[in-house]
Amino acid sequence: MGHSIASCVSSIGFSAIRRMMIMAQEYDDVVTLGIGEPDMDTPEHVIRAAMDDALAGWTHYAHSQGDPELRQALSESLRANGRDVGPERIQITHGAMGALMAAMRTLLCDGGEVLTPEPHFPDYAAHVGFAGGRLATVRSRFEDGFIVRPEKLEAAVTGNTRMLLLNSPCNPTGAVLPAEVLDAVAEMAVRRDLFVVSDEVYDAMSFDGPAPSIFDRPGMAERCLVVNSFSKTYAMTGWRVGYCYGPDWLMRELIKVVSYSTASASTPGQRAGLAALRGPKEPFAAMVDEFSRRSHYVHDRLAAMPGLRVNRPQGSFYMFADVSGSGMDGRTFAEALLREEQVVVIPGETFGPSCGNFVRIACTVPMDRLEIAMDRMERFMKRHGEMA
Ligand code: PMP
Repeated sequence: MGHSIASCVSSIGFSAIRRMMIMAQEYDDVVTLGIGEPDMDTPEHVIRAAMDDALAGWTHYAHSQGDPELRQALSESLRANGRDVGPERIQITHGAMGALMAAMRTLLCDGGEVLTPEPHFPDYAAHVGFAGGRLATVRSRFEDGFIVRPEKLEAAVTGNTRMLLLNSPCNPTGAVLPAEVLDAVAEMAVRRDLFVVSDEVYDAMSFDGPAPSIFDRPGMAERCLVVNSFSKTYAMTGWRVGYCYGPDWLMRELIKVVSYSTASASTPGQRAGLAALRGPKEPFAAMVDEFSRRSHYVHDRLAAMPGLRVNRPQGSFYMFADVSGSGMDGRTFAEALLREEQVVVIPGETFGPSCGNFVRIACTVPMDRLEIAMDRMERFMKRHGEMA
Protein backbone atom coordinates (compact mmCIF):
# COMPACT_ATOMS: atom_id res chain seq x y z
CA MET A 1 0.00 0.00 0.00
CA GLY A 2 1.40 3.39 -0.93
CA HIS A 3 1.41 6.22 1.57
CA SER A 4 0.71 9.74 0.55
CA ILE A 5 0.63 13.11 2.24
CA ALA A 6 -2.62 15.02 2.24
CA SER A 7 -2.40 17.68 -0.45
CA CYS A 8 -3.59 20.40 1.96
CA VAL A 9 -0.41 19.67 3.94
CA SER A 10 2.09 18.97 1.13
CA SER A 11 1.00 22.13 -0.70
CA ILE A 12 2.05 24.34 2.23
CA GLY A 13 5.77 25.19 2.35
CA PHE A 14 8.01 25.91 5.32
CA SER A 15 8.26 29.62 5.97
CA ALA A 16 11.19 31.86 5.07
CA ILE A 17 11.42 32.68 8.78
CA ARG A 18 12.52 29.12 9.49
CA ARG A 19 14.91 29.14 6.50
CA MET A 20 16.60 32.37 7.62
CA MET A 21 17.00 31.07 11.18
CA ILE A 22 18.68 27.89 9.91
CA MET A 23 21.01 29.91 7.68
CA ALA A 24 21.89 32.19 10.61
CA GLN A 25 23.25 29.23 12.59
CA GLU A 26 26.32 29.31 10.30
CA TYR A 27 27.44 32.71 11.65
CA ASP A 28 28.73 34.14 14.94
CA ASP A 29 27.49 37.32 16.60
CA VAL A 30 24.27 37.50 14.60
CA VAL A 31 21.68 40.16 15.47
CA THR A 32 18.32 38.53 14.79
CA LEU A 33 15.54 40.88 13.80
CA GLY A 34 13.49 37.92 12.64
CA ILE A 35 11.69 36.80 15.77
CA GLY A 36 7.98 37.51 16.17
CA GLU A 37 7.73 37.52 19.94
CA PRO A 38 8.59 39.89 22.78
CA ASP A 39 12.16 39.33 23.98
CA MET A 40 11.05 40.13 27.55
CA ASP A 41 10.39 37.16 29.85
CA THR A 42 6.97 36.74 31.43
CA PRO A 43 6.90 38.99 34.55
CA GLU A 44 7.76 37.21 37.76
CA HIS A 45 4.42 37.79 39.50
CA VAL A 46 2.68 35.90 36.69
CA ILE A 47 5.09 32.96 36.82
CA ARG A 48 4.85 32.75 40.64
CA ALA A 49 1.05 32.78 40.60
CA ALA A 50 0.95 30.01 37.98
CA MET A 51 3.53 27.99 39.94
CA ASP A 52 1.56 28.36 43.19
CA ASP A 53 -1.63 27.31 41.44
CA ALA A 54 0.08 24.30 39.86
CA LEU A 55 1.39 23.25 43.30
CA ALA A 56 -2.13 23.65 44.68
CA GLY A 57 -3.47 21.13 42.15
CA TRP A 58 -4.22 23.11 38.98
CA THR A 59 -2.62 20.36 36.93
CA HIS A 60 -5.69 18.63 35.50
CA TYR A 61 -7.67 19.14 32.31
CA ALA A 62 -9.42 22.47 32.26
CA HIS A 63 -13.01 22.83 31.13
CA SER A 64 -13.00 22.76 27.31
CA GLN A 65 -14.38 26.26 27.11
CA GLY A 66 -11.65 27.46 29.46
CA ASP A 67 -11.11 28.23 33.12
CA PRO A 68 -14.32 29.97 34.35
CA GLU A 69 -12.33 32.51 36.39
CA LEU A 70 -10.23 33.40 33.38
CA ARG A 71 -13.30 33.81 31.16
CA GLN A 72 -14.92 35.96 33.83
CA ALA A 73 -11.80 38.15 34.10
CA LEU A 74 -11.63 38.50 30.31
CA SER A 75 -15.31 39.40 30.15
CA GLU A 76 -14.79 42.11 32.80
CA SER A 77 -11.83 43.50 30.93
CA LEU A 78 -13.80 43.53 27.63
CA ARG A 79 -16.75 45.24 29.34
CA ALA A 80 -14.39 47.83 30.83
CA ASN A 81 -13.45 48.59 27.21
CA GLY A 82 -17.06 48.91 26.09
CA ARG A 83 -17.55 45.44 24.65
CA ASP A 84 -20.49 43.63 26.17
CA VAL A 85 -19.19 40.06 25.92
CA GLY A 86 -20.28 37.62 28.61
CA PRO A 87 -18.02 34.76 29.75
CA GLU A 88 -20.35 32.30 27.99
CA ARG A 89 -19.29 33.73 24.63
CA ILE A 90 -15.55 33.44 25.29
CA GLN A 91 -13.55 30.37 24.26
CA ILE A 92 -10.02 29.87 25.62
CA THR A 93 -7.69 28.23 23.09
CA HIS A 94 -4.16 26.93 22.58
CA GLY A 95 -2.81 30.36 21.64
CA ALA A 96 -4.36 32.55 18.98
CA MET A 97 -3.24 29.75 16.64
CA GLY A 98 -5.72 27.43 18.33
CA ALA A 99 -8.48 30.01 17.91
CA LEU A 100 -7.69 30.57 14.22
CA MET A 101 -7.56 26.84 13.55
CA ALA A 102 -10.84 26.23 15.39
CA ALA A 103 -12.54 29.14 13.62
CA MET A 104 -11.52 27.90 10.18
CA ARG A 105 -12.56 24.33 10.90
CA THR A 106 -15.89 25.45 12.28
CA LEU A 107 -16.71 27.83 9.44
CA LEU A 108 -15.01 26.36 6.36
CA CYS A 109 -15.17 22.59 6.41
CA ASP A 110 -17.44 22.57 3.38
CA GLY A 111 -14.90 24.55 1.35
CA GLY A 112 -15.00 28.24 0.64
CA GLU A 113 -12.73 31.17 0.25
CA VAL A 114 -11.23 33.46 2.87
CA LEU A 115 -10.22 36.92 1.74
CA THR A 116 -7.38 38.70 3.52
CA PRO A 117 -5.29 41.79 2.76
CA GLU A 118 -1.71 41.14 1.65
CA PRO A 119 0.93 41.33 3.17
CA HIS A 120 -0.44 38.87 5.73
CA PHE A 121 0.65 36.61 8.56
CA PRO A 122 1.94 33.58 6.60
CA ASP A 123 0.27 31.00 8.84
CA TYR A 124 -3.19 32.03 7.59
CA ALA A 125 -2.65 29.98 4.42
CA ALA A 126 -2.14 26.85 6.54
CA HIS A 127 -5.05 27.58 8.90
CA VAL A 128 -7.40 28.03 5.96
CA GLY A 129 -5.91 25.22 3.85
CA PHE A 130 -5.95 22.60 6.62
CA ALA A 131 -9.66 23.33 7.06
CA GLY A 132 -10.28 22.66 3.36
CA GLY A 133 -10.65 26.30 2.37
CA ARG A 134 -8.71 28.60 0.07
CA LEU A 135 -6.95 31.82 1.01
CA ALA A 136 -7.41 34.65 -1.49
CA THR A 137 -5.59 37.94 -1.03
CA VAL A 138 -6.05 41.58 -1.89
CA ARG A 139 -2.94 43.68 -2.14
CA SER A 140 -2.45 46.66 0.15
CA ARG A 141 0.14 49.20 -0.97
CA PHE A 142 3.14 50.76 0.69
CA GLU A 143 1.94 54.16 -0.57
CA ASP A 144 -1.36 53.68 1.35
CA GLY A 145 0.54 52.82 4.54
CA PHE A 146 -0.51 49.19 3.89
CA ILE A 147 -4.12 50.08 4.66
CA VAL A 148 -6.29 47.95 2.39
CA ARG A 149 -8.79 49.88 0.27
CA PRO A 150 -12.32 48.64 1.06
CA GLU A 151 -13.41 48.95 -2.59
CA LYS A 152 -10.54 46.67 -3.65
CA LEU A 153 -11.54 44.18 -0.98
CA GLU A 154 -15.11 44.20 -2.26
CA ALA A 155 -14.00 43.82 -5.88
CA ALA A 156 -12.25 40.56 -4.89
CA VAL A 157 -15.36 39.03 -3.28
CA THR A 158 -16.65 36.08 -5.32
CA GLY A 159 -19.58 33.69 -4.97
CA ASN A 160 -17.26 31.40 -2.98
CA THR A 161 -16.09 34.03 -0.48
CA ARG A 162 -17.26 33.13 3.01
CA MET A 163 -15.05 35.20 5.22
CA LEU A 164 -12.90 38.30 5.57
CA LEU A 165 -9.81 37.87 7.72
CA LEU A 166 -8.36 41.09 9.14
CA ASN A 167 -5.26 41.65 11.24
CA SER A 168 -4.79 45.04 12.90
CA PRO A 169 -2.22 46.02 14.11
CA CYS A 170 -0.68 43.99 11.34
CA ASN A 171 2.07 41.43 11.23
CA PRO A 172 4.22 42.16 9.13
CA THR A 173 3.49 45.84 8.34
CA GLY A 174 2.65 47.37 11.74
CA ALA A 175 -0.32 49.12 10.09
CA VAL A 176 -3.41 49.90 12.18
CA LEU A 177 -6.70 49.92 10.23
CA PRO A 178 -8.42 53.29 10.82
CA ALA A 179 -12.05 53.57 11.98
CA GLU A 180 -13.39 54.77 8.62
CA VAL A 181 -11.88 51.79 6.78
CA LEU A 182 -13.36 49.41 9.35
CA ASP A 183 -16.76 51.16 8.96
CA ALA A 184 -16.66 50.58 5.20
CA VAL A 185 -15.47 46.97 5.48
CA ALA A 186 -18.13 46.15 8.10
CA GLU A 187 -20.87 47.70 5.95
CA MET A 188 -19.66 45.63 2.99
CA ALA A 189 -19.50 42.43 5.06
CA VAL A 190 -23.15 42.89 6.08
CA ARG A 191 -24.25 43.73 2.54
CA ARG A 192 -22.37 40.77 1.01
CA ASP A 193 -23.26 38.43 3.88
CA LEU A 194 -19.66 37.64 4.83
CA PHE A 195 -18.31 36.48 8.15
CA VAL A 196 -15.39 38.44 9.64
CA VAL A 197 -12.50 37.07 11.68
CA SER A 198 -10.49 39.85 13.33
CA ASP A 199 -7.02 38.84 14.53
CA GLU A 200 -6.19 41.38 17.23
CA VAL A 201 -3.18 39.75 18.91
CA TYR A 202 -1.22 43.02 18.71
CA ASP A 203 -4.08 45.26 19.89
CA ALA A 204 -2.24 46.26 23.07
CA MET A 205 0.69 47.43 20.95
CA SER A 206 -0.89 50.38 19.21
CA PHE A 207 1.27 53.49 19.50
CA ASP A 208 -1.16 56.33 18.64
CA GLY A 209 -4.09 55.43 20.90
CA PRO A 210 -6.24 52.28 21.02
CA ALA A 211 -6.55 50.39 17.74
CA PRO A 212 -10.18 50.50 16.56
CA SER A 213 -11.83 47.10 16.05
CA ILE A 214 -14.30 45.97 13.41
CA PHE A 215 -16.14 44.12 16.21
CA ASP A 216 -17.57 47.45 17.42
CA ARG A 217 -19.19 48.28 14.07
CA PRO A 218 -22.93 47.86 13.36
CA GLY A 219 -23.99 44.36 12.34
CA MET A 220 -20.81 42.71 13.62
CA ALA A 221 -22.23 41.18 16.82
CA GLU A 222 -23.81 38.40 14.71
CA ARG A 223 -20.98 37.87 12.20
CA CYS A 224 -17.61 38.64 13.75
CA LEU A 225 -15.16 36.53 15.72
CA VAL A 226 -12.30 38.30 17.49
CA VAL A 227 -9.10 36.29 17.98
CA ASN A 228 -6.69 37.41 20.66
CA SER A 229 -3.97 36.02 22.86
CA PHE A 230 -1.87 36.41 25.98
CA SER A 231 1.26 35.81 23.88
CA LYS A 232 2.26 39.31 22.82
CA THR A 233 0.37 41.52 25.29
CA TYR A 234 1.76 39.74 28.34
CA ALA A 235 5.03 38.28 26.98
CA MET A 236 3.53 34.80 27.35
CA THR A 237 4.16 33.11 23.99
CA GLY A 238 5.37 29.84 25.53
CA TRP A 239 2.37 29.41 27.81
CA ARG A 240 0.15 28.91 24.76
CA VAL A 241 -3.01 30.64 25.85
CA GLY A 242 -5.27 32.54 23.49
CA TYR A 243 -8.97 33.17 23.19
CA CYS A 244 -11.75 34.17 20.88
CA TYR A 245 -15.25 35.57 21.24
CA GLY A 246 -18.14 35.90 18.87
CA PRO A 247 -21.85 35.21 18.37
CA ASP A 248 -23.60 32.44 20.33
CA TRP A 249 -24.48 30.45 17.21
CA LEU A 250 -20.77 30.09 16.42
CA MET A 251 -19.34 29.68 19.93
CA ARG A 252 -21.77 26.78 20.62
CA GLU A 253 -20.22 24.82 17.74
CA LEU A 254 -16.60 26.02 17.87
CA ILE A 255 -16.15 24.50 21.34
CA LYS A 256 -16.51 21.05 19.72
CA VAL A 257 -13.41 21.64 17.59
CA VAL A 258 -11.39 22.81 20.60
CA SER A 259 -12.65 20.00 22.77
CA TYR A 260 -11.96 17.23 20.23
CA SER A 261 -8.63 18.61 18.99
CA THR A 262 -6.86 19.94 22.11
CA ALA A 263 -9.30 19.12 24.98
CA SER A 264 -8.47 22.48 26.53
CA ALA A 265 -5.73 25.07 26.69
CA SER A 266 -2.99 24.37 29.25
CA THR A 267 -4.34 24.64 32.82
CA PRO A 268 -1.27 26.30 34.43
CA GLY A 269 -1.06 28.54 31.36
CA GLN A 270 -4.61 29.73 31.95
CA ARG A 271 -3.81 30.43 35.62
CA ALA A 272 -0.85 32.49 34.41
CA GLY A 273 -3.22 34.37 32.10
CA LEU A 274 -5.53 35.07 35.04
CA ALA A 275 -2.62 36.46 37.08
CA ALA A 276 -1.62 38.67 34.14
CA LEU A 277 -5.17 40.06 33.87
CA ARG A 278 -5.72 40.54 37.60
CA GLY A 279 -2.24 41.72 38.61
CA PRO A 280 -0.28 44.94 38.09
CA LYS A 281 -0.36 46.31 34.54
CA GLU A 282 2.80 48.45 34.74
CA PRO A 283 5.25 45.83 33.41
CA PHE A 284 3.08 45.40 30.30
CA ALA A 285 2.64 49.13 29.72
CA ALA A 286 6.43 49.49 30.01
CA MET A 287 6.82 46.80 27.34
CA VAL A 288 4.58 48.68 24.91
CA ASP A 289 6.53 51.89 25.57
CA GLU A 290 9.73 50.02 24.86
CA PHE A 291 8.40 48.62 21.54
CA SER A 292 7.22 52.08 20.56
CA ARG A 293 10.63 53.58 21.39
CA ARG A 294 12.47 50.85 19.47
CA SER A 295 10.14 51.00 16.44
CA HIS A 296 10.44 54.77 16.12
CA TYR A 297 14.22 54.53 16.50
CA VAL A 298 14.47 51.85 13.79
CA HIS A 299 12.12 53.81 11.55
CA ASP A 300 14.26 56.95 11.84
CA ARG A 301 17.49 55.07 11.19
CA LEU A 302 16.10 53.14 8.19
CA ALA A 303 14.41 56.22 6.69
CA ALA A 304 17.80 57.97 6.67
CA MET A 305 19.48 55.17 4.69
CA PRO A 306 19.55 55.77 0.93
CA GLY A 307 17.77 52.98 -0.96
CA LEU A 308 15.30 52.04 1.82
CA ARG A 309 11.67 53.12 2.30
CA VAL A 310 9.63 52.57 5.49
CA ASN A 311 6.31 53.78 6.83
CA ARG A 312 5.95 55.41 10.25
CA PRO A 313 5.32 52.69 12.85
CA GLN A 314 1.74 52.53 14.19
CA GLY A 315 1.68 49.28 16.14
CA SER A 316 3.04 45.75 16.74
CA PHE A 317 6.85 45.54 16.73
CA TYR A 318 7.40 45.05 13.00
CA MET A 319 8.60 47.29 10.20
CA PHE A 320 8.12 46.32 6.56
CA ALA A 321 10.84 48.00 4.49
CA ASP A 322 10.99 48.38 0.73
CA VAL A 323 14.54 47.39 -0.25
CA SER A 324 14.20 47.68 -4.03
CA GLY A 325 16.42 50.80 -3.97
CA SER A 326 19.33 48.48 -3.17
CA GLY A 327 18.92 46.80 -6.56
CA MET A 328 18.06 43.56 -4.75
CA ASP A 329 14.80 41.79 -4.06
CA GLY A 330 13.90 41.00 -0.46
CA ARG A 331 15.33 37.49 -0.45
CA THR A 332 18.66 38.49 -2.05
CA PHE A 333 18.84 41.45 0.34
CA ALA A 334 18.16 39.31 3.44
CA GLU A 335 20.73 36.68 2.43
CA ALA A 336 23.41 39.27 1.57
CA LEU A 337 22.75 41.18 4.82
CA LEU A 338 23.22 37.99 6.81
CA ARG A 339 26.34 37.02 4.88
CA GLU A 340 27.99 40.45 4.93
CA GLU A 341 26.80 41.95 8.23
CA GLN A 342 25.26 39.09 10.27
CA VAL A 343 21.84 40.70 10.67
CA VAL A 344 18.73 38.58 10.16
CA VAL A 345 15.65 40.10 8.52
CA ILE A 346 12.83 38.13 6.87
CA PRO A 347 12.26 38.20 3.08
CA GLY A 348 8.91 39.78 2.27
CA GLU A 349 7.86 37.03 -0.15
CA THR A 350 6.76 34.90 2.79
CA PHE A 351 3.98 37.44 3.48
CA GLY A 352 2.52 37.22 -0.02
CA PRO A 353 3.60 37.20 -3.67
CA SER A 354 3.34 40.99 -4.00
CA CYS A 355 5.90 41.51 -1.20
CA GLY A 356 9.06 40.32 -2.99
CA ASN A 357 10.76 43.73 -2.71
CA PHE A 358 10.29 43.99 1.05
CA VAL A 359 11.84 42.63 4.23
CA ARG A 360 10.27 42.36 7.68
CA ILE A 361 12.27 43.73 10.58
CA ALA A 362 11.19 42.78 14.11
CA CYS A 363 12.26 45.15 16.89
CA THR A 364 12.47 42.25 19.32
CA VAL A 365 16.02 42.71 20.62
CA PRO A 366 17.13 45.23 23.26
CA MET A 367 18.05 48.76 22.22
CA ASP A 368 21.85 48.21 22.34
CA ARG A 369 21.54 45.27 19.92
CA LEU A 370 19.18 47.27 17.69
CA GLU A 371 21.76 50.06 17.52
CA ILE A 372 24.40 47.54 16.40
CA ALA A 373 21.98 46.12 13.81
CA MET A 374 21.19 49.60 12.45
CA ASP A 375 24.90 50.49 12.25
CA ARG A 376 25.51 47.28 10.31
CA MET A 377 22.55 47.93 7.98
CA GLU A 378 23.77 51.48 7.39
CA ARG A 379 27.19 50.14 6.39
CA PHE A 380 25.49 47.59 4.13
CA MET A 381 23.33 50.24 2.47
CA LYS A 382 26.34 52.51 1.93
CA ARG A 383 27.81 49.66 -0.10
CA HIS A 384 24.62 48.78 -1.95
CA GLY A 385 22.35 51.83 -1.76
CA GLU A 386 23.96 53.80 -4.57
CA MET A 387 22.57 51.25 -7.05
CA ALA A 388 19.23 53.07 -6.59
N1 PMP B 1 -1.74 36.07 14.67
C1 PMP B 1 -0.68 36.83 14.34
C2 PMP B 1 -0.89 37.97 13.41
C3 PMP B 1 0.59 36.55 14.87
O1 PMP B 1 1.63 37.31 14.53
C4 PMP B 1 0.73 35.46 15.76
C5 PMP B 1 2.05 35.08 16.37
N2 PMP B 1 3.18 35.30 15.63
C6 PMP B 1 -0.41 34.70 16.07
C7 PMP B 1 -1.61 35.03 15.51
C8 PMP B 1 -0.33 33.51 16.98
O2 PMP B 1 -0.18 33.85 18.32
P1 PMP B 1 -0.23 32.79 19.51
O3 PMP B 1 1.15 32.75 20.10
O4 PMP B 1 -1.21 33.34 20.48
O5 PMP B 1 -0.67 31.49 18.95
